[in-house]
Amino acid sequence: MALEHPINQLSGIGPKLAEKCAGIGLLTVGDLLFHLPYKYQDRTRLTPIGQLKLGMAVVIEGEVMGSQVLFGRRRSLICRISDRTGLLTMRLFHFTKAQQNRLRQGARIRCYGEVRMGSTGLEMMHPEYQVRDDGDFPPLDDALTPLYPSTEGLNQGRLRSLVEQAITALKRQGGLPEWLPPDWLAGWGLPSLTDALLSLHHPSPGSDTDALLAGLHPAQQRLALEELLAHHLSLMQIRQKTQAFGAVRFPPSTSLVSELLKQLPFTLTGAQQRVVGEIQDDLGRSLPMLRLVQGDVGSGKTLVAMLAALQVIEAGYQVALMAPTELLAEQHFRNMSQWVEPLGLTCGLLLGKHGKKQRGETLDDLAQGRIQMMIGTHALFQESVEYAQLGLVIIDEQHRFGVHQRLALKEKARQGLPHQLTMTATPIPRTLAMTAYADLDVSIIDELPPGRTPVTTTVISQDRRDAVVRRVDAACGDGRQVYWVCTLIEESEELQAEAAEDTADNLQRALPGRRIGLLHGRMKGAEKTRLMTAFKDGQLDILVATTVIEVGVDVPNASVMIIENPERLGLAQLHQLRGRVGRGSKDSYCLLLFGTPLSEQSRQRLEVMRSTSDGFVIAEEDLKLRGPGEVLGTRQTGAMQFRVADLERDRNWLDVVPELAHRLTVEYPGHVEPLVNRWLFNADRYAQV
Ligand code: ADP
Ligand code: MG
Repeated sequence: MALEHPINQLSGIGPKLAEKCAGIGLLTVGDLLFHLPYKYQDRTRLTPIGQLKLGMAVVIEGEVMGSQVLFGRRRSLICRISDRTGLLTMRLFHFTKAQQNRLRQGARIRCYGEVRMGSTGLEMMHPEYQVRDDGDFPPLDDALTPLYPSTEGLNQGRLRSLVEQAITALKRQGGLPEWLPPDWLAGWGLPSLTDALLSLHHPSPGSDTDALLAGLHPAQQRLALEELLAHHLSLMQIRQKTQAFGAVRFPPSTSLVSELLKQLPFTLTGAQQRVVGEIQDDLGRSLPMLRLVQGDVGSGKTLVAMLAALQVIEAGYQVALMAPTELLAEQHFRNMSQWVEPLGLTCGLLLGKHGKKQRGETLDDLAQGRIQMMIGTHALFQESVEYAQLGLVIIDEQHRFGVHQRLALKEKARQGLPHQLTMTATPIPRTLAMTAYADLDVSIIDELPPGRTPVTTTVISQDRRDAVVRRVDAACGDGRQVYWVCTLIEESEELQAEAAEDTADNLQRALPGRRIGLLHGRMKGAEKTRLMTAFKDGQLDILVATTVIEVGVDVPNASVMIIENPERLGLAQLHQLRGRVGRGSKDSYCLLLFGTPLSEQSRQRLEVMRSTSDGFVIAEEDLKLRGPGEVLGTRQTGAMQFRVADLERDRNWLDVVPELAHRLTVEYPGHVEPLVNRWLFNADRYAQV
């Protein structure tokens, strides 16, 4: 048996089971080696009952103090156990008379199970247990028991026996090739790949149980490091492949950029200038730019994108700007048209809702080069859309192109790939960004335009809603405009819309003299635009909205925001929402109207919102409170599912991985490809995002 053989050649596995294995990514014998335990059961030691904590899965031993049948909502047998350090209850819902008889007072009992809180205090429900009158139990296990990720119909015993056979095959062939330099490993005190795999499948007696359970054992750390490295290298490969297409070089602008700047009532911030310079250099190279601009809400990313576009347009090429929603596309279109029309340039807008005729004309203008700046949603990159000469693609808010979409982009650009600029308002802590965006260069706009008034944030309970409504009324009386944001946990836009409708009705009843509008995701695009325009033009006092207003919307006169049930949202999302106010000259307020009761974690999170408005600080706190999966959002985490590594637990490695990846590429170029391929499962999925 060799590692590359299909899994069905192992003994004890038929076509049915092989299919189940395939379902969880196990195709070859070697795949089993990388199918690592997701946790271990510890039956190697006894835990005194007095030291039990909720959630622990442990072995306890003690004396039966008595047992009885309880007739509650569900009949159960409870058995009190004491080991002199404390008392624990074992609870069985299914039991026989014989079992009941066996649990006599004075007998000795040993249980393995998870500790929970029950009506009698600490309990184990249906633990594995043994009873001995003489207390003569078999010896405890001498090693941890691995538990493998599995699937319906594939039990742990089966899986373990398959892994056993794979390990035998591994030993017979003398281990796996090692792609990490042995002197690096020695320096960190980490084992070879083969030793690491062996000790994870078969923790030896006497190995550091606590470290293994926490994922901090050298064997786990070694694999985590290799996986993070492979992930990083694969992103670098994607980058290289992308850049191999080549791109058109654009010299710095000599007229359009300075003409636009002259026309603006303000000057660029220092941070904007720096980022504009970085982009200008990228555009001058024959490699396609792959740059991500991170900047807090209101930091002026749109203008930075516009200046990049002008450099390309000045050379006679076109620019496409993709926005995540039609609402934002329209807003960009209005802003950018105002900027470029005086320069004699034309913006185009392509939306799903446009009729056939309008769409046809736009596409024709685009193909003929009469439109220089093309704005829209992802529809911009459909097959039917032809560009005369596409030179730059700008992506607002987080969309990312995978390898396949990049190939499609190449078709649009003809000579090499268009340059790519991605803009995001979601600040991500630096180390995390280096991991998630290793294929991109990152620029940060870390300065807000001057004259912004900080938003004063207050955290208030729903109980005081009436007072909040009065405050809103007073604010309207001062000529302020107000956002009232409804959040709902349900995914359904329908329910969200209903909740927002109710809120708007109630508000209107409470404040009959105020002009109140309602904006939600179920509304047609034209209707949304009409409302936003009315709000922007001051025809509405209060805009009740669902979180659809989260990204990008710009109404400087709106200076009050109420967010209902803010505890339901992530910090990053709250920060985005709050960024809608504080854009004008008036001092601004944000009221977080929480529902009760509030968990301790929610309380902490709202306190973070209250105490700072720095997006990067908020992102760091979010990372601490919720972990990287939540901070990066499902899109990115779906793409970064690691087998071993854990971005939170292994944070220390994240700092060194880029440097190690670089050294491996330079000193051991032959190791890169096989290392990436070994872990390719992830890389492949990543590329598709
Ligand atoms: P975001 O980074 O959130 O996309 P925008 O690009 O929408 O921010 O900019 C927010 C507002 O700030 C816009 O009205 C824009 O015109 C304005 N702005 C951009 N740069 C500056 C600057 N340097 N000084 C003053 N206002 C600016
Ligand atoms: Mg924006």
